[in-house]
Amino acid sequence: MNNFYDISKVIQKYNNFLITSHINLDGDGIGSELAFYFILKKLNKKAIILNQDRLPKIYDFLPGSDKVHYLNNDRINPKSIDVGIVLDCSNIERIGRTYEIFKDIKTIINIDHHKSNENYGNLNYLDCSASSVGEIIYELIKFININLLDEKISTCLFTAIMTDTGSFRYSNVSSKTFGVASHLTRNGIKPHLIANNIYNRNTYPGLKLLGEALLTLEINESSCVSWLTITRKMLNDANANDEEIEGIIDIATTLNNVEVSILFRETKDNKIKVSFRSKGNFNVNKFAGKFKGGGHPNAAGCLCSGKLDEIKEKILSELFKEIKSCEE
Ligand code: AMP
Ligand code: MN
Ligand code: MN
Repeated sequence: MNNFYDISKVIQKYNNFLITSHINLDGDGIGSELAFYFILKKLNKKAIILNQDRLPKIYDFLPGSDKVHYLNNDRINPKSIDVGIVLDCSNIERIGRTYEIFKDIKTIINIDHHKSNENYGNLNYLDCSASSVGEIIYELIKFININLLDEKISTCLFTAIMTDTGSFRYSNVSSKTFGVASHLTRNGIKPHLIANNIYNRNTYPGLKLLGEALLTLEINESSCVSWLTITRKMLNDANANDEEIEGIIDIATTLNNVEVSILFRETKDNKIKVSFRSKGNFNVNKFAGKFKGGGHPNAAGCLCSGKLDEIKEKILSELFKEIKSCEE
Protein backbone atom coordinates (compact mmCIF):
# COMPACT_ATOMS: atom_id res chain seq x y z
CA MET A 1 0.00 0.00 0.00
CA ASN A 2 1.10 3.58 -0.65
CA ASN A 3 1.21 6.47 1.78
CA PHE A 4 0.33 10.17 1.66
CA TYR A 5 3.92 10.99 0.71
CA ASP A 6 3.65 8.88 -2.48
CA ILE A 7 0.32 10.49 -3.37
CA SER A 8 1.56 14.03 -2.75
CA LYS A 9 4.60 13.35 -4.97
CA VAL A 10 2.32 12.33 -7.85
CA ILE A 11 0.17 15.42 -7.29
CA GLN A 12 3.29 17.58 -7.40
CA LYS A 13 4.69 15.94 -10.52
CA TYR A 14 1.65 16.02 -12.83
CA ASN A 15 -0.75 18.69 -14.08
CA ASN A 16 -3.96 17.16 -15.43
CA PHE A 17 -6.25 15.20 -13.15
CA LEU A 18 -9.56 13.43 -13.71
CA ILE A 19 -11.57 12.60 -10.57
CA THR A 20 -14.39 10.08 -10.25
CA SER A 21 -16.36 7.95 -7.80
CA HIS A 22 -18.94 5.16 -7.87
CA ILE A 23 -22.27 4.82 -9.68
CA ASN A 24 -25.26 5.78 -7.51
CA LEU A 25 -23.11 8.63 -6.28
CA ASP A 26 -23.47 9.34 -2.55
CA GLY A 27 -22.41 12.13 -0.21
CA ASP A 28 -19.01 10.60 0.46
CA GLY A 29 -18.36 10.21 -3.26
CA ILE A 30 -19.29 13.75 -4.27
CA GLY A 31 -17.97 15.44 -1.11
CA SER A 32 -14.58 13.76 -1.51
CA GLU A 33 -14.46 14.49 -5.25
CA LEU A 34 -15.13 18.20 -4.73
CA ALA A 35 -12.69 18.51 -1.83
CA PHE A 36 -9.96 16.88 -3.94
CA TYR A 37 -10.89 19.14 -6.88
CA PHE A 38 -10.54 22.31 -4.80
CA ILE A 39 -7.21 21.18 -3.37
CA LEU A 40 -5.84 20.53 -6.87
CA LYS A 41 -7.09 23.95 -8.02
CA LYS A 42 -5.36 25.61 -5.07
CA LEU A 43 -2.17 23.84 -6.13
CA ASN A 44 -2.61 25.36 -9.63
CA LYS A 45 -3.42 22.03 -11.27
CA LYS A 46 -6.06 21.29 -13.89
CA ALA A 47 -8.81 19.06 -12.56
CA ILE A 48 -12.09 17.69 -13.89
CA ILE A 49 -14.72 15.71 -12.01
CA LEU A 50 -16.47 13.12 -14.18
CA ASN A 51 -19.12 10.67 -13.02
CA GLN A 52 -21.19 8.23 -15.00
CA ASP A 53 -24.47 9.96 -14.12
CA ARG A 54 -25.79 13.43 -13.47
CA LEU A 55 -25.28 14.76 -9.94
CA PRO A 56 -28.22 13.84 -7.64
CA LYS A 57 -30.19 17.00 -6.83
CA ILE A 58 -29.68 16.82 -3.06
CA TYR A 59 -26.01 17.70 -3.58
CA ASP A 60 -26.64 20.80 -5.70
CA PHE A 61 -25.94 23.08 -2.71
CA LEU A 62 -22.32 21.95 -2.51
CA PRO A 63 -19.72 24.49 -3.63
CA GLY A 64 -18.48 23.47 -7.06
CA SER A 65 -21.53 21.29 -7.82
CA ASP A 66 -21.96 23.20 -11.09
CA LYS A 67 -18.52 21.99 -12.17
CA VAL A 68 -19.32 18.29 -11.96
CA HIS A 69 -19.43 16.57 -15.35
CA TYR A 70 -21.16 13.38 -16.32
CA LEU A 71 -20.91 11.02 -19.26
CA ASN A 72 -22.87 11.94 -22.36
CA ASN A 73 -22.65 15.67 -21.81
CA ASP A 74 -18.87 15.73 -22.11
CA ARG A 75 -16.20 13.92 -24.05
CA ILE A 76 -12.88 13.73 -22.33
CA ASN A 77 -9.78 12.56 -24.11
CA PRO A 78 -7.84 10.18 -21.83
CA LYS A 79 -4.63 11.31 -23.56
CA SER A 80 -5.09 14.78 -22.06
CA ILE A 81 -5.17 13.34 -18.52
CA ASP A 82 -2.05 12.43 -16.52
CA VAL A 83 -3.65 11.03 -13.40
CA GLY A 84 -7.04 9.45 -12.66
CA ILE A 85 -8.28 9.66 -9.07
CA VAL A 86 -10.86 7.06 -8.04
CA LEU A 87 -12.56 7.71 -4.71
CA ASP A 88 -14.74 5.45 -2.53
CA CYS A 89 -14.70 2.49 -4.96
CA SER A 90 -13.81 -1.01 -3.76
CA ASN A 91 -13.27 -2.19 -7.33
CA ILE A 92 -12.83 -0.43 -10.64
CA GLU A 93 -16.14 -1.73 -12.04
CA ARG A 94 -17.86 0.54 -9.49
CA ILE A 95 -17.02 3.61 -11.59
CA GLY A 96 -19.42 2.32 -14.25
CA ARG A 97 -19.05 3.45 -17.84
CA THR A 98 -16.45 6.13 -17.06
CA TYR A 99 -14.11 3.12 -17.13
CA GLU A 100 -14.04 3.64 -20.91
CA ILE A 101 -11.92 6.74 -20.20
CA PHE A 102 -10.13 5.66 -17.04
CA LYS A 103 -8.83 2.44 -18.61
CA ASP A 104 -6.54 4.52 -20.85
CA ILE A 105 -5.12 6.75 -18.10
CA LYS A 106 -1.56 5.76 -17.19
CA THR A 107 -1.60 6.60 -13.49
CA ILE A 108 -4.58 5.75 -11.28
CA ILE A 109 -4.77 6.74 -7.61
CA ASN A 110 -7.25 4.64 -5.63
CA ILE A 111 -8.32 6.09 -2.27
CA ASP A 112 -10.89 4.14 -0.31
CA HIS A 113 -12.17 2.85 3.03
CA HIS A 114 -13.87 -0.41 1.93
CA LYS A 115 -12.24 -3.50 3.42
CA SER A 116 -12.86 -5.40 0.17
CA ASN A 117 -10.80 -2.91 -1.89
CA GLU A 118 -9.02 -4.67 -4.74
CA ASN A 119 -5.95 -2.37 -5.01
CA TYR A 120 -6.66 -1.71 -8.67
CA GLY A 121 -4.69 1.57 -8.77
CA ASN A 122 -1.06 2.30 -9.58
CA LEU A 123 -1.16 3.96 -6.19
CA ASN A 124 -3.50 2.61 -3.53
CA TYR A 125 -4.43 4.18 -0.23
CA LEU A 126 -6.84 2.22 1.93
CA ASP A 127 -7.92 3.02 5.50
CA CYS A 128 -10.74 0.77 6.68
CA SER A 129 -10.82 2.50 10.05
CA ALA A 130 -11.88 5.77 8.39
CA SER A 131 -15.60 6.54 8.53
CA SER A 132 -15.50 7.82 4.98
CA VAL A 133 -13.16 8.79 2.19
CA GLY A 134 -13.88 12.38 3.31
CA GLU A 135 -12.07 11.61 6.57
CA ILE A 136 -9.08 10.28 4.58
CA ILE A 137 -8.99 13.36 2.33
CA TYR A 138 -8.93 15.53 5.46
CA GLU A 139 -5.84 13.60 6.65
CA LEU A 140 -4.27 13.96 3.20
CA ILE A 141 -4.82 17.73 3.30
CA LYS A 142 -3.27 17.83 6.75
CA PHE A 143 -0.25 16.03 5.30
CA ILE A 144 0.05 18.35 2.27
CA ASN A 145 -0.71 21.66 3.99
CA ILE A 146 -3.51 22.23 6.47
CA ASN A 147 -3.72 25.90 5.41
CA LEU A 148 -5.35 24.70 2.18
CA LEU A 149 -8.45 23.78 4.17
CA ASP A 150 -11.08 26.49 3.71
CA GLU A 151 -14.84 26.84 4.18
CA LYS A 152 -15.72 25.35 0.78
CA ILE A 153 -13.55 22.27 1.25
CA SER A 154 -14.78 21.89 4.84
CA THR A 155 -18.41 21.92 3.64
CA CYS A 156 -17.66 19.14 1.14
CA LEU A 157 -15.75 17.04 3.66
CA PHE A 158 -18.37 17.49 6.38
CA THR A 159 -21.05 16.34 3.91
CA ALA A 160 -18.97 13.26 3.07
CA ILE A 161 -18.54 12.34 6.74
CA MET A 162 -22.10 13.17 7.80
CA THR A 163 -23.72 11.10 5.05
CA ASP A 164 -21.42 8.06 5.34
CA THR A 165 -21.93 7.88 9.11
CA GLY A 166 -25.74 8.30 8.94
CA SER A 167 -25.28 11.61 10.76
CA PHE A 168 -22.74 10.16 13.21
CA ARG A 169 -24.91 7.17 14.15
CA TYR A 170 -23.11 4.19 12.57
CA SER A 171 -20.41 1.97 14.03
CA ASN A 172 -17.80 3.53 11.72
CA VAL A 173 -17.78 6.68 13.91
CA SER A 174 -14.66 7.01 16.05
CA SER A 175 -13.28 9.76 18.25
CA LYS A 176 -11.17 10.69 15.23
CA THR A 177 -14.33 11.23 13.20
CA PHE A 178 -15.61 13.74 15.76
CA GLY A 179 -12.16 15.35 15.88
CA VAL A 180 -12.19 15.89 12.13
CA ALA A 181 -15.82 17.09 12.16
CA SER A 182 -14.96 19.50 14.95
CA HIS A 183 -12.03 20.96 13.02
CA LEU A 184 -14.17 21.33 9.88
CA THR A 185 -16.82 23.13 11.92
CA ARG A 186 -14.23 25.67 13.06
CA ASN A 187 -13.86 26.78 9.42
CA GLY A 188 -17.16 28.61 9.33
CA ILE A 189 -19.37 25.83 8.03
CA LYS A 190 -22.94 25.42 9.30
CA PRO A 191 -23.69 21.73 10.02
CA HIS A 192 -27.44 22.40 10.43
CA LEU A 193 -27.62 24.00 6.98
CA ILE A 194 -25.79 21.06 5.43
CA ALA A 195 -28.18 18.66 7.20
CA ASN A 196 -31.18 20.71 6.01
CA ASN A 197 -29.95 20.55 2.44
CA ILE A 198 -29.38 16.80 2.55
CA TYR A 199 -32.29 15.57 4.67
CA ASN A 200 -35.04 18.21 4.55
CA ARG A 201 -35.62 18.68 0.86
CA ASN A 202 -37.82 15.68 0.10
CA THR A 203 -40.11 16.11 -2.88
CA TYR A 204 -43.80 15.31 -2.90
CA PRO A 205 -43.29 12.37 -5.34
CA GLY A 206 -40.38 11.19 -3.18
CA LEU A 207 -42.53 11.04 -0.04
CA LYS A 208 -45.40 9.39 -1.96
CA LEU A 209 -42.93 6.74 -3.08
CA LEU A 210 -41.77 6.27 0.52
CA GLY A 211 -45.40 5.65 1.51
CA GLU A 212 -45.84 3.08 -1.25
CA ALA A 213 -42.55 1.42 -0.36
CA LEU A 214 -43.56 1.13 3.31
CA LEU A 215 -46.75 -0.67 2.24
CA THR A 216 -44.53 -3.45 0.90
CA LEU A 217 -42.74 -3.91 4.26
CA GLU A 218 -42.38 -7.56 5.22
CA ILE A 219 -40.72 -9.09 8.23
CA ASN A 220 -39.41 -12.46 9.31
CA GLU A 221 -39.47 -12.15 13.06
CA SER A 222 -37.52 -15.27 13.92
CA SER A 223 -34.62 -14.11 11.71
CA CYS A 224 -34.98 -10.42 12.63
CA VAL A 225 -35.03 -9.49 8.95
CA SER A 226 -37.26 -6.93 7.23
CA TRP A 227 -37.48 -6.00 3.57
CA LEU A 228 -39.04 -3.51 1.18
CA THR A 229 -39.61 -3.64 -2.56
CA ILE A 230 -39.73 -0.84 -5.14
CA THR A 231 -40.81 -1.65 -8.70
CA ARG A 232 -40.58 0.59 -11.78
CA LYS A 233 -44.36 0.79 -11.71
CA MET A 234 -44.30 2.20 -8.18
CA LEU A 235 -41.74 4.81 -9.25
CA ASN A 236 -43.76 5.76 -12.32
CA ASP A 237 -47.09 5.89 -10.45
CA ALA A 238 -45.57 8.18 -7.80
CA ASN A 239 -43.90 10.24 -10.53
CA ALA A 240 -40.65 9.83 -8.61
CA ASN A 241 -37.15 9.20 -9.93
CA ASP A 242 -34.38 6.86 -8.84
CA GLU A 243 -32.57 9.49 -6.78
CA GLU A 244 -35.58 9.66 -4.49
CA ILE A 245 -35.10 6.05 -3.39
CA GLU A 246 -32.01 7.09 -1.44
CA GLY A 247 -32.67 6.90 2.30
CA ILE A 248 -35.77 4.67 2.11
CA ILE A 249 -33.82 1.59 3.21
CA ASP A 250 -32.70 3.42 6.34
CA ILE A 251 -36.31 3.77 7.47
CA ALA A 252 -36.85 -0.01 7.32
CA THR A 253 -33.76 -0.37 9.50
CA THR A 254 -35.35 1.66 12.31
CA LEU A 255 -37.78 -1.18 13.07
CA ASN A 256 -37.31 -2.49 16.60
CA ASN A 257 -35.84 -6.02 16.87
CA VAL A 258 -34.77 -6.00 13.23
CA GLU A 259 -31.08 -6.75 12.69
CA VAL A 260 -30.91 -6.79 8.91
CA SER A 261 -33.04 -4.89 6.44
CA ILE A 262 -33.11 -5.14 2.69
CA LEU A 263 -34.41 -3.07 -0.20
CA PHE A 264 -35.08 -4.80 -3.50
CA ARG A 265 -35.56 -2.42 -6.40
CA GLU A 266 -35.88 -2.62 -10.15
CA THR A 267 -33.35 -0.41 -11.96
CA LYS A 268 -33.84 1.53 -15.19
CA ASP A 269 -31.83 -1.06 -17.10
CA ASN A 270 -33.88 -4.05 -15.95
CA LYS A 271 -31.61 -5.24 -13.18
CA ILE A 272 -32.40 -5.76 -9.52
CA LYS A 273 -30.42 -3.66 -7.08
CA VAL A 274 -30.34 -4.98 -3.55
CA SER A 275 -29.32 -2.84 -0.58
CA PHE A 276 -28.49 -4.38 2.80
CA ARG A 277 -28.24 -2.67 6.17
CA SER A 278 -27.30 -4.29 9.48
CA LYS A 279 -27.67 -2.87 12.97
CA GLY A 280 -25.80 -5.61 14.74
CA ASN A 281 -22.96 -8.05 14.15
CA PHE A 282 -24.26 -9.64 10.98
CA ASN A 283 -21.76 -8.71 8.25
CA VAL A 284 -23.73 -7.65 5.17
CA ASN A 285 -20.55 -6.92 3.20
CA LYS A 286 -19.63 -10.60 3.41
CA PHE A 287 -23.17 -11.64 2.60
CA ALA A 288 -23.41 -9.30 -0.44
CA GLY A 289 -20.11 -10.82 -1.59
CA LYS A 290 -21.99 -14.08 -2.24
CA PHE A 291 -23.87 -12.20 -4.95
CA LYS A 292 -20.81 -10.40 -6.38
CA GLY A 293 -21.58 -7.27 -4.36
CA GLY A 294 -19.85 -5.64 -1.42
CA GLY A 295 -19.70 -2.58 0.80
CA HIS A 296 -19.17 -2.33 4.54
CA PRO A 297 -20.08 -4.68 7.44
CA ASN A 298 -23.21 -2.60 8.17
CA ALA A 299 -24.15 -1.30 4.69
CA ALA A 300 -23.69 -3.19 1.47
CA GLY A 301 -25.29 -3.84 -1.89
CA CYS A 302 -25.31 -6.00 -4.97
CA LEU A 303 -26.71 -5.87 -8.49
CA CYS A 304 -28.49 -8.96 -9.85
CA SER A 305 -29.92 -10.00 -13.19
CA GLY A 306 -33.17 -11.92 -13.33
CA LYS A 307 -36.76 -11.78 -12.16
CA LEU A 308 -37.51 -9.71 -9.05
CA ASP A 309 -39.48 -12.46 -7.28
CA GLU A 310 -36.87 -15.11 -7.95
CA ILE A 311 -34.02 -12.91 -6.74
CA LYS A 312 -35.95 -12.01 -3.59
CA GLU A 313 -36.64 -15.66 -2.89
CA LYS A 314 -33.01 -16.64 -3.47
CA ILE A 315 -31.48 -13.88 -1.36
CA LEU A 316 -33.97 -14.16 1.49
CA SER A 317 -33.72 -17.95 1.80
CA GLU A 318 -29.91 -17.69 1.75
CA LEU A 319 -30.05 -14.97 4.40
CA PHE A 320 -32.41 -16.89 6.70
CA LYS A 321 -30.10 -19.92 6.45
CA GLU A 322 -27.03 -17.81 7.17
CA ILE A 323 -28.57 -15.97 10.11
CA LYS A 324 -29.72 -19.26 11.60
CA SER A 325 -26.26 -20.71 11.32
CA CYS A 326 -24.88 -17.57 13.03
CA GLU A 327 -27.09 -18.18 16.04
CA GLU A 328 -26.20 -21.85 16.40
P1 AMP B 1 -26.20 1.27 -1.16
O1 AMP B 1 -27.06 0.14 -0.73
O2 AMP B 1 -26.17 1.46 -2.64
O3 AMP B 1 -26.50 2.52 -0.42
O4 AMP B 1 -24.72 0.86 -0.81
C1 AMP B 1 -24.26 0.61 0.50
C2 AMP B 1 -22.77 0.35 0.50
O5 AMP B 1 -22.47 -0.79 -0.29
C3 AMP B 1 -21.92 1.47 -0.10
O6 AMP B 1 -20.71 1.53 0.65
C4 AMP B 1 -21.65 1.05 -1.50
O7 AMP B 1 -20.46 1.57 -1.97
C5 AMP B 1 -21.60 -0.47 -1.37
N1 AMP B 1 -22.14 -1.15 -2.55
C6 AMP B 1 -23.39 -1.05 -3.05
N2 AMP B 1 -23.56 -1.82 -4.15
C7 AMP B 1 -22.37 -2.45 -4.36
C8 AMP B 1 -21.87 -3.37 -5.36
N3 AMP B 1 -22.64 -3.83 -6.35
N4 AMP B 1 -20.57 -3.77 -5.25
C9 AMP B 1 -19.78 -3.31 -4.26
N5 AMP B 1 -20.20 -2.46 -3.30
C10 AMP B 1 -21.45 -2.01 -3.33
MN1 MN C 1 -20.00 5.56 -1.21
MN1 MN D 1 -17.71 5.88 1.59
